[in-house]
Amino acid sequence: MIFDKVLEICQKYYICVHCLGRMFSLLGTNTTNYERGNSLLLSITMENHRNYLSGNDVIQKKAITNLKLLASNAYFKPAQKVLDNEGLEYVKNNSNQICYLCNNIFFKIENYTSKAIQILEKIEFDSFLIGSRPDSQIINREDKFKSEFTLLEAESFKSHFNRVLGKQLLPVLNKIPEFSNPDVLMIYSLDYERFMVELILKSIFVYGRYNKLIRGIPQTHWFCRKCKGTGCESCNYTGKQYLTSVEDLISPVFIKESKATDLKFHGAGREDIDVRMLGSGRPFIIELRNPKIRNLNLVKIQRKVNKSNKKKVRIYNLKYSNKKEVIKIKTEAKNTKKIYKAIIKSESKLNKEEFNQKVILLKNIFENKKLHQRTPYRVSHRRSDKVREKLIYKIEGKLIKPNLYEFIIETQGGTYIKELINGDEGRTTPSFSEIFKTPLECKELDVLEISV
Ligand SMILES: [Zn+2]
Ligand SMILES: [Zn+2]
Repeated sequence: MIFDKVLEICQKYYICVHCLGRMFSLLGTNTTNYERGNSLLLSITMENHRNYLSGNDVIQKKAITNLKLLASNAYFKPAQKVLDNEGLEYVKNNSNQICYLCNNIFFKIENYTSKAIQILEKIEFDSFLIGSRPDSQIINREDKFKSEFTLLEAESFKSHFNRVLGKQLLPVLNKIPEFSNPDVLMIYSLDYERFMVELILKSIFVYGRYNKLIRGIPQTHWFCRKCKGTGCESCNYTGKQYLTSVEDLISPVFIKESKATDLKFHGAGREDIDVRMLGSGRPFIIELRNPKIRNLNLVKIQRKVNKSNKKKVRIYNLKYSNKKEVIKIKTEAKNTKKIYKAIIKSESKLNKEEFNQKVILLKNIFENKKLHQRTPYRVSHRRSDKVREKLIYKIEGKLIKPNLYEFIIETQGGTYIKELINGDEGRTTPSFSEIFKTPLECKELDVLEISV
């Protein structure tokens, strides 16, 4: 019997109406725990009031005991009133009863909501979710309580707290509660006395393409190899391996406009530090973490970035993106076609005719054929050693000087162009050096185009 169980609880503990209802939460739907608790106490009061009026001595005695229990221990007003009306005495406990399970937290929900309102004041968002981490003291006490009374239909402190708070905030914030991927997640860490709120703002992803118009800067921020960013003699206490990067140059505007705490730069592949990225640029996605502003003026951001990075870096085609697209551009980078311009220096000299002969030979050997590339020496410290097969689509050559040539090379993404030219001591085969039968060196390299 539910009634017996409630009376049994009242005999040993005071728990508030919210928590009482919560202990039977899986029973009866379309109501709140508060109503559930209240209805239970009221029904028990009514039942015992009726028994009291029954006229049977034994039943009446039992009814009085129960009504007193509700009046004194549960501090239930209707039971008190019945006893008052019947002129029956009961122990009038102090009204400041403290709930054994929630320490009256559920009567002080405003403290928790007002904190949320205060925190969210300067934050732009459309959807939110409340989460909580109740202290182990709360959880352990509740677990013991439930097993003591074999309460199998209870709702946890945590889920009651989250829902009640969310419900209270809904009309005040006038935003949508969202469970899967809210703009704002507020996590309350709480014990019986104190609480702390952790605010997690959903990242914003912005897609764009960039040109790197200068040589000598990496795509992303590189921490100093020696000190890993803390600053040391070898990096002149900057913490950086390279003074700047594409990421470093474009980040400040994004951070400022979104009021994000930090960002992550995801590139669709990357060019070497000494390689320029020209043409219609390389796709990238900026992940802005914990942004307080979500509605960004992307046109303004683009203009500001480009204005402050003239002749260094340029970005365009900015649009909102998502996490899925980050994975997509990363995987697709391997399958894209890339067109490079390489300036190549030779150790021997050729006249125009000899050079043209070599170009025909190159075309025959490479075009639409697979190239075998073992991981180059220069990257072997960070890439696993294996042989990659890459397709070369097209090669065009032009003689600038007898020992200086310009090549336009169209290849599959991920081809190591410098090694394609110098052969990397036999690790890339065939190679331009192999065909020219003389050592060749790539002096300058530009990515002209990346196409999907
Ligand atoms: Zn309670
Ligand atoms: Zn350093």
